[in-house]
This record gives sequence, structure tokens and C-alpha cells, in this order.
Amino acid sequence: MDVWSDGFFYVNEKGHVAVKPVSEGELSVDVTDVIAEALAEGSTLPLLIRFQDIISSRVRRLNHKFRDAIAEASYDGEYRSIYPIKVNQLHEVVAEVLEAGKEFNLGLECGSRAELIAALPLVGDVHLLLCNGVKDRTMLNLMLNAQVLGQQVLPVIEKYSEFEQLMSLADQRDMAPRMGVRVKLSTRGSGRWFESGGSGSKFGLTVPELMHMVHELERRGIADKLELLHFHLGSQIADIQVLRAAVREITQMYADLCLRGLQIRFLDVGGGLGVDYGGDGDNPESSINYGLREYANIVVFAVKEICEERGVQTPVLLSESGRALTAHHSMLVVPVLGVHRPDSPPMSQMPVDPHAVVKRMRQVSDAIKNIRNIGMLFEVFHDAQEIREESEQLARLGYLPLDHLAQTDSLYWTICREVLRLLQIEDLNPPPNEQLELERQLTDLYLCDFSVFQSIPDHWAIKQVFPVMPLDRLDEEPTRRAQLVDLTCDSDGKISEYVSSNANRSWLPLHNFKQGEPYYLGIFLVGAYQEILGDAHNLIGRVGEVHVYASADEPGNFWIEEVIKGISIKEMLSQVQYFPNDLDRRMSELIRQKIASGAVKPAEGMRILNNYVKRLDDFTYCDADSSPGQVSP
Ligand SMILES: *Cc1c(COP(=O)(O)O)cnc(C)c1O
Repeated sequence: MDVWSDGFFYVNEKGHVAVKPVSEGELSVDVTDVIAEALAEGSTLPLLIRFQDIISSRVRRLNHKFRDAIAEASYDGEYRSIYPIKVNQLHEVVAEVLEAGKEFNLGLECGSRAELIAALPLVGDVHLLLCNGVKDRTMLNLMLNAQVLGQQVLPVIEKYSEFEQLMSLADQRDMAPRMGVRVKLSTRGSGRWFESGGSGSKFGLTVPELMHMVHELERRGIADKLELLHFHLGSQIADIQVLRAAVREITQMYADLCLRGLQIRFLDVGGGLGVDYGGDGDNPESSINYGLREYANIVVFAVKEICEERGVQTPVLLSESGRALTAHHSMLVVPVLGVHRPDSPPMSQMPVDPHAVVKRMRQVSDAIKNIRNIGMLFEVFHDAQEIREESEQLARLGYLPLDHLAQTDSLYWTICREVLRLLQIEDLNPPPNEQLELERQLTDLYLCDFSVFQSIPDHWAIKQVFPVMPLDRLDEEPTRRAQLVDLTCDSDGKISEYVSSNANRSWLPLHNFKQGEPYYLGIFLVGAYQEILGDAHNLIGRVGEVHVYASADEPGNFWIEEVIKGISIKEMLSQVQYFPNDLDRRMSELIRQKIASGAVKPAEGMRILNNYVKRLDDFTYCDADSSPGQVSP
């Protein structure tokens, strides 16, 4: 927790997860209090909690690290963050980033038509707005309009044809457009998104294209309109040395262009500043080998050194860090609905005349009580395995009735549970294969009220890990091994890897779930990319959310600024072209026919109809109180 929480989350004296959302302050908010307040204000579970202060804390932290580095390096210039809104476009999130970034001159980046249209009114005429990605004539026109208004909007040219199109539109208006350019570097990214950079990348001009563009601008006498040089290595840069190499490469290009007489003001090192989801330094898939300070130092010092060597003016530094600004601010609260415990199968009554295999299994299960050494333990376990195989084979051939098979199966799992318990007491190092296998097979399935596809799609799509932990009872030892499964009818709808200090990350230590007692898990660091990438598998849709601000003047040190309801069944269904009126009409027709035929009484029929119609306003998640409960006793 110390590693991934970045100082924002900790366990308080009550054994609850608490948050210190204001990084410079000690103000602490108990997450359990936030949930209670949210429910009292009409929120439903699962619930996304946004700690708005964490957004501003991250914005300040990043900018302060750059200010420190700039001071330390005596860098003659400033740094500005550019927030790429694709990471989290929610208006309140962008507004919070902008508000916190005001004093740092923070700007925005957009990458599509809709994002451009969302961002244009937000930036006023002081803050930079960069537009990457594919830009058609409509978008280029919008950007030229913005430049006419005096807004600091720069199209970042990624394809030569975009440059040609921009020039022809500007010619029609008789204006000289401001612009930036993204270049393909020879330095390749590292980590999962390395394909965003390098010469094979889908984005950016090659060096010959860049020079062609520069010649054309010079020919037109408007070379000063090329104001920004940009590269982007890809998200979640795993290895900081790769960033250093890329910064050096682009700074050399910058220096060359300056020496040619161009007046490039901005050097934009793109996004990719990583977040330490896994907290295990050696796994580049989920972790990073640097912090904000080192990132800022590397950028500032590398640019300064080369500018000095080449005798050119230092540029304004930009980074398009998105994930690093928003990942921490939101967490998902997920109730546990029920538990399947493979180690506690229901024991039915012994058949009157048990089959020989049943008797043998019974003997093994009795024998386990008299185990005196580890050798005997393995012997008993292997016997049980053999008898189980035999009984399954007999059943397949029709020689073992179902109630006898049920008996051997239940006895087998009870034996397994006992063997595992004894092996764990032995605590052999390294643990024998039998133990690892039993731990895997005897892991509980905790059914949770959420959808992996909606709320943490990157876990499903690219095996991104997210920290998960109980939100209370953290002063109580967790005694169960659990795997979390979601509501979808999809075997991929589960969390298959956990952030944990266990050698085996396929399960999470959890407390025993008691039916009727709420048990909430938190899934953390979900503020970047997950919301908009999330999909509606099984028509399980957007969750409800609350926006929380910390305040020393409020009970519990917080207040809820906004409650947003989750998507209703009615809204969800209309996205796939089912409409309430039509559903209502069809259902009443069906019920009227049943009434007419005498299959149900009119009052009963109407009750059934009303109940159906009311459900259209429900949310797409389960109610904890009508949940399946203890899936197996
Ligand atoms: C996606 C993207 C970013 C954001 O990257 P993070 O890893 O979230 O910091 C920045 N710049 C460009 C061009 C992008 O496409």
C-alpha cells in the first residue's frame, strides 16, 4: 500500500482505509464514512468515489517537481503540464485539473473531433490547447477560427498531408497558421505501449518529411510559425533511460532547427509518465523504475545540457502527462455479494448401502485424523486423489449413482482442506507442489457487484493490475484466499492477478464473509482511461459516483459536492434499441392474454405487470439485499 498509494491512502486506527487527499496537509477522510454519507444521499453500490483534491495534489506535485528541477539546473525557462483529456474527459475532472493548474499555466491536449469541441471553450485565450491525432478539414478550420480569436490553439502536425491541408485552408483565409509538429524518433519506447514511438509508429513525421515541411515554411517566409516540437513514446514508460535517450534525440533536432533560424518555443516530451500500480519494481508491465522527481530532473537536465553544448536558447518544456495526473483520484467501492467455498461442500446423507469407493474415501477421511508425519500426509492425499478419479470413471460408465458420487466428491474436498491445513502448519520451504496446487483449487470465489469490463477494462484487455483491498476490518487477520469474480456471464469477468506481497499473486487474502454484514472492497487507481474504455458487457453499465472534497470544517473532514446516478436499465436498454413504451406494451399484451385465458387472476396479472414496469428504473447492478448470498454453504 505504501508504494502504490503514493501517500494518499493508508489504514487508520479503526482498521479502515482512509485517504489524505491534500498532499501538503494531514486532513484525513475515512472511506467508510464517505460510503455511509453517499448511501444516505441516495447513491447506490457499486460506487465510484472521486477525491477531487487528489487531482489537484497530483497537478501541484508534478509542477513542483519540475520547478525544483528547473531551479536546481538553473534552467532558463519554464515548464507547463498539458493534460490530454482522452485519459479522463469527465468535465469535473478536466475542470479540477485546469483549476489546480492555473498557477502553473497548465494547458490541454485533445485528439479527436469531439474532444476538440469539448476543449475549445475550456482554455480561454491564455492556456495552450494542442491537438494531436488525425485532423480533418473541419477540425483544422475550428483551430484556425480559434487562432483568429487569439486562442493559443496549435494543431500538432502528424502527417505531411495534414500540413498541406492546413496551409491550403490558411491560404484561403490569407493567414499564417501557428503549428507544432510530432516527429518520429529513432528511440523506441519501452513497456506495453512502445509502438506509439519509434520509426514504425503510426504517428509523426519522419525526418525527411520534417525537413520538407521546414523548407516549405521557409519558402513562404513563415518559419516562425512552427512553434512546437513533440514526440510521444507511448503510455506508462517503464524504463526512464529510454525517456532520457528520446529527450536527447529531440533536443538535438530542436538545436539544429534553432541554428537554422527557426524560433521553436515549446519542446513537448509527450505523455507516458508512469504510475506504479503494482509496486513491484521488476515487473515492467505494472510498475515503473522512477518517480516524479527523477522524471522531471531527466527532462530538465538533458534539455539544458544539449542547449548549452549547442549554444541555443532553452525552450519552454511541456509534458502531456495524463495517467500520472488522474489515476490516483478515483476508487471503486464494490460490495461482496456471496462466496463460493470449494473447501466446504455440502455433506449429504450417506447412502444406505454405500459403494466400495465411497467406503474407501470414508476410510481415508478417517485416517487423516491419525496422521503422524508428513510422509503419511502425502500418502493419504494421493489415495484420495486416486479414489476420486476412480469414482468419476465409474460414474461416467454408469456404475456409480449420483448420490454416491456426491458423497465421494464432498469427502474428497474435505480431505483436501485438511491436507492443506496440515501442510500450512508444516510450513515447508519451498512449499511442495501439492500445497501450491491445493491452494489454487481451494481458493474461494468472492462474487462481487461489479463488471470488470465496465470498471477495469484494462485488467481484462491487457492484464493491467489494479490494487484491491478490503475497506474495513483491517485490524483483523484475513483468513481466506480469494479470487474476485464479477456479475458478467463471462469467464474472463474476474480479477486474475493481485497487487500483493505474496509470492503467488493469483489470490488475495480476504476476511471471512458473513452474510448480512456488508463487506466492501476498494479497487484503486482507476482514474485514468478505465471509465471511458469501459463497456457494457451483459448490459451492465455505468456505475454511480460521488465527488468528494476534503474540508476541515465538515464532520469527517469531507463533503460530497455531487452525486451522479448510475445508468438505469431503461437508459441502458435504449442504447440497444429497446424502448420502455414498447416493452411495457408487449408485456401487458402478454399478461392480458394470460388473464383472458384464465391462467392468472386479473389482480395477480396486474401485480406482475407493475413489478416488471418498475424494474425499468432500476440500475443495472444487483442489490446487496436481494443478492444470491452465500453461493455455497
Ligand atoms: C495518450 C497520449 C498522452 C497521454 O499519455 P499518458 O501515458 O496518459 O501520460 C499524451 N500524449 C499523446 C500524444 C497521447 O496520445
